[in-house]
Amino acid sequence: MSNQCLTSSIHNHTSLCDGKNTPQEMAVAAWKQGITTLGFTGHSHTPCDLEYCMSPGRTNQYKGEINRLKTQYAGKMDILCGIEWDQFSDDDPTAYDYWIGSVHYLQGPVTGKFYEVDWRDADLLACMNDDFGGDGLAMAKAYFASVVAVAEKNPDILGHFDLIKKLNGKGIFFNEASPEYREAALAALRQCFEHCKVLEINTGGVARGYRTDFYPAAFLLEEWRRLGGKIIITADSHSADGLLWGYEEAVRYAKYAGFTSAVILTKDGFVDCAL
Ligand SMILES: [Zn+2]
Ligand SMILES: [Zn+2]
Repeated sequence: MSNQCLTSSIHNHTSLCDGKNTPQEMAVAAWKQGITTLGFTGHSHTPCDLEYCMSPGRTNQYKGEINRLKTQYAGKMDILCGIEWDQFSDDDPTAYDYWIGSVHYLQGPVTGKFYEVDWRDADLLACMNDDFGGDGLAMAKAYFASVVAVAEKNPDILGHFDLIKKLNGKGIFFNEASPEYREAALAALRQCFEHCKVLEINTGGVARGYRTDFYPAAFLLEEWRRLGGKIIITADSHSADGLLWGYEEAVRYAKYAGFTSAVILTKDGFVDCAL
């Protein structure tokens, strides 16, 4: 398949945060696959995070290493130094080539605790029970309100819009088919569109076996198209062998939702590509 959408991979993590491979290893793999733009998006330093973000020291190392790769690959492959900026991060996302705005945590309205929403069932369960009175729908609504808050900061790309469903594959936290859940998600999506026009189709949850459907769900993707939003396919890869994971299926998924084009990110900004 010689689709231009398969030449750019711009949501990627390395061993400087929670990925498996070094930036250099990721770049070698990208080059071998014919990728023309490789973007790195380490997890921004976030004070409440104890597991996967970059420390300030690591962040400096990250910037230095990506800059070195930019020089090494100059004229062969464009390297971009982005950041996946979390809602609770204290880093400045505008200091990078581009940024993906993402929510990975909920702060409990009762206890004030921070919970990772995408890692352990036990954490999400504690969040739901201790801070939302056992009401998973209320928790999901709080998540979507957080996504809107990130979108209001005008990220270049809005990350994994419905990540809150990651651990909900068996429906143990909330019912993704319920009108209440769908309406809450749709209302948030429409609010996000006022501030950010590029939404990712993120294949990462499927790649890592958590889900059988991408972010965002089909009903959200269809609404995004109706709104006139743009889409970008990303793998949210945490290893060198996953840079384009699921891209061809994501192309089909986007077409099925009625899209005829997506965008890719290049060193000159977003460029349309036919699906
Ligand atoms: Zn993320
Ligand atoms: Zn990510």
